[in-house]
Amino acid sequence: MTRGRDSGPEFDHPTEKCGVVGVSLEDRDAAFPTYYALYALQHRGQESAGIVTHDGFQQHQHVGMGLVGDAFEEADIEDLVGSAAIGHVRYPTAGSVDKSCAQPFSVSFKGGALGLSHNGNLVNADDLRDDLAASGHAFTSDGDTEVIAHDLARNLLDDDIVSAVETTMSRIHGSYSLTIMHDDTVLGLRDPLGNRPLVVGELEDGYVLASESAAIDTLGGELVRDVRPGELVVLHEDGSGFDSHQLVAADNTAHCFFEYVYFARPDSVIDDELVYEVRRELGRQLWAEAGVDSDVVMPVPDSGRAFASGYAEAAQDEGASVEFAEGLMKNRYVGRTFIMPTQEAREQAVRLKLNPIRSTVEGKTVTVIDDSIVRGTTSSQLVDLVREAGAEAVHVRIGAPPIEAPCYMGIDMATREELIAADRTPEEIADEIGADSLSYLSLSAITAAVGKSEADLCAGCVTGEYPYDVPGEARDRDIDHPAVDAPAHD
Ligand code: SF4
Repeated sequence: MTRGRDSGPEFDHPTEKCGVVGVSLEDRDAAFPTYYALYALQHRGQESAGIVTHDGFQQHQHVGMGLVGDAFEEADIEDLVGSAAIGHVRYPTAGSVDKSCAQPFSVSFKGGALGLSHNGNLVNADDLRDDLAASGHAFTSDGDTEVIAHDLARNLLDDDIVSAVETTMSRIHGSYSLTIMHDDTVLGLRDPLGNRPLVVGELEDGYVLASESAAIDTLGGELVRDVRPGELVVLHEDGSGFDSHQLVAADNTAHCFFEYVYFARPDSVIDDELVYEVRRELGRQLWAEAGVDSDVVMPVPDSGRAFASGYAEAAQDEGASVEFAEGLMKNRYVGRTFIMPTQEAREQAVRLKLNPIRSTVEGKTVTVIDDSIVRGTTSSQLVDLVREAGAEAVHVRIGAPPIEAPCYMGIDMATREELIAADRTPEEIADEIGADSLSYLSLSAITAAVGKSEADLCAGCVTGEYPYDVPGEARDRDIDHPAVDAPAHD
């Protein structure tokens, strides 16, 4: 019997690792707002959820497996007293799938109480763990977040929190957006290249840090701005504001371009750009670069919707009679994981999740739009479904370039051997999945749509050129990164 998470159309996508939250309020408990913010970030992690609060005297923690709604009972949240809180939703790419790796990670030590929520992935975690273990630190998990926590705790024995974070930053190498709680002070930290997102927002009676602005909206707050790459934001304990410390300033950034393409919610705002509008523009560019005359363009729900809408709009602007249609209906009650006892059942996976509307596709040439193809395991089933519903031709258009390399920055992207585009041309992939044609969007169209240069985006999974030195990878991007140049060990 197999439980698959790569068994449906949405499962053949890169998977975001985590979402983080930090809340500091004037004089009410922060646990419920943190819980609601985690709900808003549920798409960033479904394996576990947790909250740590501080009431001015001590920490309180609850972590549980599964979705936010499964991980907490009402009483669990009521027990989390204190006006300072951090929270986390997790999908593991480093560390085990069990409660020992559920976050926030918390530890009490001579220098106080520390809590940590991490989105990203360190590429030198093993070296740092060995270094800390050699100086007597005992680890309870195999995750990289505990490595950061121990390093920070060690620095806090001699330094204030800002200096301690600065020292830890000089030693950790990789991708991180962190919410940190030191006693009842909540902080947010973004790595020097800003690989993963982090924003700060204002509530009526306090401030909030979150992976995405949609979490701030959920709390009825106002987005203040993105936390800058290399910046430490310290929320005031009384909820009255925050201080900024620019600890590292790099010449370039390396924002993950997939946040715009797939990971982030369409209603989130990243660097002043509404993600939904970026995706619509990508759809328009997809028509400009690889438009194909067809009767109908339809999205793979839900993620292809904005692309398909922009694509249809651009086609119609040019006088093409391509009609936008919701031709694939999604069964909302099929979760990420379901039981598939046989190969036959596995082949049913797409049918469980999606059903074409026959009258929309019958006798028509159809363009199906999706945001990415990772393994290609479900694409042929999808094309079959649309053909069986009567389509005369099925073209596939993808709103991102081919994924040819793994991700080392905290995204589950499959291994190079598993990636269908690693050793095949688009024409070969079209043959393999049975599509009449297949085209991808160029990276330059993405940089134009998000208003950033290629030097300020990470596109490692597309180019094989990473913003950090990755052991075992021959190519790495030649960009300025002060934190990487600093010694990893004392
Ligand atoms: S390698 Fe790809 S998925 Fe990973 S951070 Fe870079 S752009 Fe994002």
